[in-house]
Amino acid sequence: MKVIGVTRDDDGPQLLERERPSPDPGEALVRTLRVGVDGTDHEVLNGSHGGFPDGADHMVLGHEAVGVVEEPNGTGLEAGQVVAPTVRRKPNGETNDYFRRGEPDMAPDGEYTERGIVGDHGFMAEYFTSPADFLVPVPESVAEHGFLVEPLSITEKANEHAYATREPFDWRPESACVLGNGSLGLLTLWMLDQEYDRTYCVGRRNRPDPTVDIIDEIGSTYVDSRETPVDELPEAYEAMDYIYEATGFAPHAFQTVKALDQNGVGVLLGIPEPWEFEVDGGSLHNEIVLHNKCLIGTVNSHVSHFEDAVETLQELPEWLLDDLVTTVTDPEHVEAAFEDGDDQIKAVVEFDSL
Ligand code: NAP
Ligand code: BGC
Ligand code: ZN
Repeated sequence: MKVIGVTRDDDGPQLLERERPSPDPGEALVRTLRVGVDGTDHEVLNGSHGGFPDGADHMVLGHEAVGVVEEPNGTGLEAGQVVAPTVRRKPNGETNDYFRRGEPDMAPDGEYTERGIVGDHGFMAEYFTSPADFLVPVPESVAEHGFLVEPLSITEKANEHAYATREPFDWRPESACVLGNGSLGLLTLWMLDQEYDRTYCVGRRNRPDPTVDIIDEIGSTYVDSRETPVDELPEAYEAMDYIYEATGFAPHAFQTVKALDQNGVGVLLGIPEPWEFEVDGGSLHNEIVLHNKCLIGTVNSHVSHFEDAVETLQELPEWLLDDLVTTVTDPEHVEAAFEDGDDQIKAVVEFDSL
């Protein structure tokens, strides 16, 4: 079968041939429909994040997938059921407390692998196998966009964790700001715009630009970080109750503290490389303490976040899906899915259709 992988000798995606996998007991065989590409896939390709499976000379890419159960293999799933696979797996198949509790997203390093990212092959293949409990049902009506369940689940988790920090008091947030106009940022912006009175999205692009068009269409305010640095948001617009960082631009983590309103919460998603720069640590510390601010990090998601994401996917407007998905390519022309010019927002590799 055809797979898209990265080898130790190349930093671009390669079309490779591998044998079709057979499901072990407890696993189903899934026929892949579509696999999305995000910023993390680019980080995996350029070697700044993730790592090959032990001893392997290549890794199959892809962690945002939707497929159809081909062989239920006695798992209780139905043949033909559309599913989205979660990303984390037990290392060497050996379970631990995080997996037993259904919270692999909270597992420390070494106690998980991530398919297509670290230590395990991904889903960019005509077929893949997975334990049935990591396959989340997706309604057929949204199968075409089922590869968005994984990125949406990331935001379901981030919001859950961020809001949990504000639960002890009567928090009434009105303003939210997303840092980053990539696919994760734009999906999140739409989600937050359903909840908040006023939303903002920070990018660094000149108009006209397709991501800024989406920000306008959502009804959010576009902020250019070259003109208004994140820590000047309060003076230029307003202090934010909620900030969601999806740039991977490390200074944003610290500028967020200043941009938050009193009692606000900022959640960090980006995965930057090491980068030394100066910050006024005293002011940051002071600001967090005296104004009850909170800054948290979050990674990955688990099954209940996927289930929430399936609900959200069904609410996404058609125009947003149309504008967001800028490339759909077959595995033979996979380079098109990894081009990252300003016209590319969300690229998808299509292996098959329903
Ligand atoms: P992406 O497509 O690369 O998007 C990043 C966006 O941030 C781009 O639109 C980029 O703008 C913008 N940006 C970068 N620096 C900026 C700056 N200084 N000012 C304003 N905008 C800036 O990536 P993505 O897929 O949306 O993901 C976003 C980040 O989240 C990545 O680091 C990814 O690895 C991470 N991520 C984390 C998790 C998690 O579980 N924590 C899950 C998914 C993704 P330009 O395109 O104009 O450069
Ligand atoms: C994936 C997550 C993963 C994270 C860190 C993200 O792009 O969506 O599932 O945990 O990268 O590797
Ligand atoms: Zn991702």
